[in-house]
Amino acid sequence: MSLIVQKFGGTSVGTTERIQNVAKKVKKFRDEGHDIVVVVSAMSGETNRLIGLANSITEEPDGRELDVLVSTGEQVTIALLCMALQKIGCEARSYTGGQVRILTDSAFTKARILDIDGQRMRDDLAKGRVVVVAGFQGEDEAGNITTLGRGGSDTTGVALAAALKADECQIYTDVDGVYTTDPRVVDDARRLDKITFEEMLEMASLGSKVLQIRSVEFAGKYNVPLRVLSSFEDGPGTLITTEDIENMEQPIVSGIAFNRDEAKLTVAGVPDVPGIASKILTPVSDANIEVDMIVQNVGVDNRTDFTFTVHRNEFKKAQAILAGVASEIGAREVIGDSKICKVSIVGVGMRSHAGVASRMFKALSADGINIQMISTSEIKISVVIDEKYLELAVRSLHTAFELSEKPA
Ligand code: ADP
Ligand code: ASP
Ligand code: MG
Repeated sequence: MSLIVQKFGGTSVGTTERIQNVAKKVKKFRDEGHDIVVVVSAMSGETNRLIGLANSITEEPDGRELDVLVSTGEQVTIALLCMALQKIGCEARSYTGGQVRILTDSAFTKARILDIDGQRMRDDLAKGRVVVVAGFQGEDEAGNITTLGRGGSDTTGVALAAALKADECQIYTDVDGVYTTDPRVVDDARRLDKITFEEMLEMASLGSKVLQIRSVEFAGKYNVPLRVLSSFEDGPGTLITTEDIENMEQPIVSGIAFNRDEAKLTVAGVPDVPGIASKILTPVSDANIEVDMIVQNVGVDNRTDFTFTVHRNEFKKAQAILAGVASEIGAREVIGDSKICKVSIVGVGMRSHAGVASRMFKALSADGINIQMISTSEIKISVVIDEKYLELAVRSLHTAFELSEKPA
């Protein structure tokens, strides 16, 4: 008998009918003798609806009040799921994040989990109950409700699995595993049997929203066996695991990630002298704006261009800050473009293979796609391109790296 944490996403609990299907699935595992802790998201669309209500009153709602509001979505589904479980003869109890002591910091709307007290859940499990916990939420030291950022129920699931030392954390969603790229963009994307934590972390941070980044970080740090599965059909799903040293022959590229949420800013004609990068970026970071890719050209005639990307939501704010900075440092102009996107190839096999970048650039150029920025790490290459080429770029790269074919 094992302890399993099962997380069901928004689509999986999108209607009361689907909630009853989830209950049947949970009961099946329970009947096999496993202890089950379930984490649920809000019904699909509900979190967006709640944010919309807030925005119809104010564009910048107070973080504390926004968290009180959006956390209600998950409170609805925990109760409905427990009713569905009880109806089919499965004892169950629902809890909000605060009730099972998911202690977080006080960074409203993007709180981090600091500690979880598993005692209450263990007591219920010992009494033969299924424990159903609201995803995405916690409570800070002062008892304020907090939320963990969009997609945060994944992190609740993995964090509970780590705290309870569960045998496995299963993430049930609307696809039957992690694919070589988003199957909504590439029809012949292929489900991966396994992916390493490291690759999954890159995929998630480069835009694959199938798992929240923090959940993968947690799983890697606490060694939680993590599996992504479909809530609608049976199958093995995808296991996220440590690098398999016995299976040395890795594909060069495991997956393609993309992110439409970026915007690019260039401070052009910057004096090429020490301290300029810090003069440009310090006011940006002081305004709490996260900077992603940074590129600075080699200077010509003591002038250079400094380009970086930010989240598209922060584009206007960053542009206004840079206008001030540019005149202060004597730069020629600030150029902004919010119609860009980032496409990345990811794979641990890249470490030991040459020519991956040139193969990527060749595929993009064959389709006439201009590369605006490039950044690399040991296991990924990212390019910034015009947003209108996103789908085309992802499809060409998927073909160029033969990702539809299962490696021998
Ligand atoms: P949930 O509501 O269950 O948390 P999400 O919408 O957050 O579900 O995540 C599942 C979605 O992630 C899929 O429907 C798919 O479109 C998208 N996705 C993006 N990249 C990938 C990928 N590489 N593999 C599988 N799904 C992906
Ligand atoms: N309901 C939250 C969201 O939509 C959390 C989640 O689904 O993981 O972001
Ligand atoms: Mg999700």
